[in-house]
Amino acid sequence: MGCEYCEIAAGNSKSLILHQDAEIVVAVKDTSVIPGQITVFPTEHHPIMELVPDNILQKCSIMANKVSVAIFEGLDTTGTNVIIQNGTAAGQNRPHFAIEIIPRRENDGLDFQWPQKQLTEDELGYLFNELTEDVPEEKPAIKPKKVSGKDNYLLKSLKRKA
Ligand SMILES: [Zn+2]
Repeated sequence: MGCEYCEIAAGNSKSLILHQDAEIVVAVKDTSVIPGQITVFPTEHHPIMELVPDNILQKCSIMANKVSVAIFEGLDTTGTNVIIQNGTAAGQNRPHFAIEIIPRRENDGLDFQWPQKQLTEDELGYLFNELTEDVPEEKPAIKPKKVSGKDNYLLKSLKRKA
């Protein structure tokens, strides 16, 4: 069996397609965490967010916002969760980038509360160094302390996308 979202885009699914063009699909899948969940995804197969072309990602984001507004207005909700599960460690279980828009009401039984933990100064310092070690001299107000000589993947990625 192929990719579930590619199958939806190809019309080989029981899912309800609300909008489709050459770049994005908006669908109500036949499985959802709560009735009214709507999925926005690229028409073409892109496994994770990093691999989605910027113009498609922008279109998906704008559409996700429109869908969220429509859910507020049309489904009598008091909130939405807009979720991207990017990578298997983040709960992504289909290899096709997607944005899920989930209608929320008080006491609806869904729990997306993530307990916050106080970070230590060491943890904050480590993160600051890892995230800023390659920033040009004129940028940071606080000069980061270099903790390792390895390439900073996160920052390189940010520069590449910019
Ligand atoms: Zn796919």
